[in-house]
Amino acid sequence: MVKAAEQEHPIPATGLAAQDSSGTLSPVNFSRRETGEKDVRFRVLYCGICHSDLHMAKNEWGTSIYPLIPGHEIVGVVTEVGDKVQKFKIGDNVGVGCMVGACHSCENCNKNNLENYCPNMIFTYSAKYHDGTVTYGGYSDHMVADEHYVVRIPDGLPLDAGAPLLCAGITVYSPLKYFGLDNPGTRVGIVGLGGLGHVAVKFAKAMGANVTVISTSINKKEEALEKLGADSFLVSRDQDQMNAAIGTLDSIIDTVSAVHSLLPLIRLLKSHGKLVMVGVPEKPLEQPIFPLLMGRKIVAGSAMGGMKETQEIIEFGAKHNIRADIELIPADYVNTAMKRLVKGDINYRFVIDVGNTLKSSN
Ligand SMILES: [Zn+2]
Ligand SMILES: [Zn+2]
Repeated sequence: MVKAAEQEHPIPATGLAAQDSSGTLSPVNFSRRETGEKDVRFRVLYCGICHSDLHMAKNEWGTSIYPLIPGHEIVGVVTEVGDKVQKFKIGDNVGVGCMVGACHSCENCNKNNLENYCPNMIFTYSAKYHDGTVTYGGYSDHMVADEHYVVRIPDGLPLDAGAPLLCAGITVYSPLKYFGLDNPGTRVGIVGLGGLGHVAVKFAKAMGANVTVISTSINKKEEALEKLGADSFLVSRDQDQMNAAIGTLDSIIDTVSAVHSLLPLIRLLKSHGKLVMVGVPEKPLEQPIFPLLMGRKIVAGSAMGGMKETQEIIEFGAKHNIRADIELIPADYVNTAMKRLVKGDINYRFVIDVGNTLKSSN
């Protein structure tokens, strides 16, 4: 018989869970495994709210397992380490991002440091762990994970505003590096100025790129240019502006998760330009092929990053003073935050003050 979340493991835990596809989150008691020999246990202090938490809470991708405790931008302080843990000790500031396990025998795991592309990669929540139990995310009082999936948070990075680097940050950093957009002077477009887009601008700027923000609305122009440091701003609904910018960009990172046409973006690319998708629209997109042929253009995708690169981006963020722009919220505000997220009513990332505000469910 399947055990209830509360009886599955020996260590009691509390969190915020969705119980069904309504997606409404409420306090729950559940349990976590004992600290294994390679495990790090930590008290959660902050957890970012990622758009995928919203999709998953509502089962919009069809893979949700209830009760579902979201959260994969998790930071906190180590309270216990297993006997064979080498990298961490009690009191260290640490984080866990999108994944907590993989096979460690495939090419992606062993050769490429790309556990994120392992066919048996295990997501931080709503997935089956190696022992067959369900994984639970960071909207919870504490977390336990194999040290391989734990990153060190350096002193220079604030724990609250640094948390979103663990998903939003790595999701944009990895393609900027992989697709060679990190060369100074590269003309990079960033589509969408939300949780992902605003950190994409910061990372691209820190890498020396010339950054154009492409947005449906002019509302964020001043902020993009003056606060985030973008070099130019294009309103995608303004045909004259878009026409004037045809063939001017080396590459584009598209962070938009709503259904939208790629053709106007492909037209902005120079020959050999790359349009890299990191958002996930709910429906397949239609794409005429001829505009790709004319200029050998590429439409690509990228998801998260491996653990080595995740540590790298955290160090890079600390060094270059990059963090997310956040609104810190108490745990009991989370459902309101989710509703605001649907409307895009946030600049730019909600982070839950788990350590100070998450109460137990009884
Ligand atoms: Zn995420
Ligand atoms: Zn693998």
